[in-house]
Amino acid sequence: MCRVLIIGAGGVGTVVAHKVAANPVFTDVMLASRTKSKCDQIAAAIGGDRIKTDQVDADNVADLCRVMRAFQPDIVINVALPYQDLTIMDACLECGVNYLDTANYEPLDEAHFEYSWQWAYRERFEKAGLTAILGCGFDPGVSAIFTAYAAKHHFDEIHYLDIVDCNAGNHGKAFATNFNPEINIREITQNGRYWENGEWVTTGSLEIHKTLNYPNIGPRESYLLYHEELESLVINYPTIKRARFWMTFGQEYLTHLRVIQDIGMARIDPIMYNGMEIVPIQFLKAVLPDPKTLGENYHGETSIGCRIKGIKDGKEKTYYIYNNCDHAAAYKETGTQAVSYTTGVPAALGAAMFAKGLWVMPGVHNVEEFDPDPFLSELGPQGLPWVELHDVDLEL
Ligand code: NDP
Repeated sequence: MCRVLIIGAGGVGTVVAHKVAANPVFTDVMLASRTKSKCDQIAAAIGGDRIKTDQVDADNVADLCRVMRAFQPDIVINVALPYQDLTIMDACLECGVNYLDTANYEPLDEAHFEYSWQWAYRERFEKAGLTAILGCGFDPGVSAIFTAYAAKHHFDEIHYLDIVDCNAGNHGKAFATNFNPEINIREITQNGRYWENGEWVTTGSLEIHKTLNYPNIGPRESYLLYHEELESLVINYPTIKRARFWMTFGQEYLTHLRVIQDIGMARIDPIMYNGMEIVPIQFLKAVLPDPKTLGENYHGETSIGCRIKGIKDGKEKTYYIYNNCDHAAAYKETGTQAVSYTTGVPAALGAAMFAKGLWVMPGVHNVEEFDPDPFLSELGPQGLPWVELHDVDLEL
């Protein structure tokens, strides 16, 4: 018996709600978000009175506790925005509830994300006997679980890790982001960063790029970005000599992004407009297409995986593990596109791992610290099948 509270009714929350509702391990389900009508719409689409809904301000610990005390969840799946991670963790501690999220904390007034803020909660979760599972989407999430699986089954030492994320889908819009535009643009316009020989190397934003071939897709220009799972993976796998993250972007997307930055629309500081304060990137979010609505005409696939080189039984070995996800198939099942789908499926499955007692470990943990086997054996049946290739050219 597991009672689950989902917070956030965006694209990812929609997929989480569908997957949680279909899983009998969750006996009672509540979906709460800032705008209750969005929760009601999702609940109605799923049907059958399976999902209760509520309004919550996730920036406010007292309001979160009100909802938690009334519903008495065992675990919260946080798929609101990274700004709310700490308030939701505070409320979980106050109300004795376990926690799972898909993105690490980021302060609203600084485009900067790192795990230190959430890792600072370790002792308090441990003492309370509560489990917090961090970064359980696809990347972060499955990318780290793939790495844990490779370390467990295929390598004595991992030396080189490249996480490769390709979206070869076409939604027919001139410019749109695939998840929350504000979070997405803040992430991409930061400096790049990767781990090499025991230290972080900083690059200009999207400065390093390379053509990589993706299964069933072909060649795509791939850009080195800093991505949050690198921070925990290089600590949990200290044999790693180099760890990098690559994401594909089309020229059209990059041109729009450059213009958005050049004209100041990516600014995160408040400006005065007609006598009121507005934050340009938040205004931009309001006029861009809602990622949740992109699914209808989206065609093509995403392909996300890990390309790994290391040592097994004294011999050098290469390994590539990945999932391809079809936008149209994701839309048919949940009404959202593949980026929301590939994030929501692992979040719901991570919570199911907790509910089954397989991922219970008091404290605050990144996903690679849990056993990858039961998770990956269910990931395919849940909609994200994965493929392993051994001793192949990694191109990196
Ligand atoms: P959306 O913007 O579509 O949805 C966010 C939801 O959170 C909205 O329903 C929003 O409410 C709600 N929300 C925002 N602020 C509050 C608040 N203060 N109180 C209550 N609810 C609030 O985002 P996505 O669904 O695209 O992304 C959700 C999360 O998933 C993000 O943290 C994102 O970074 C993460 N993500 C992780 C990925 C991974 O692979 N690990 C990949 C993609 C996304 P309202 O509807 O009223 O605006």
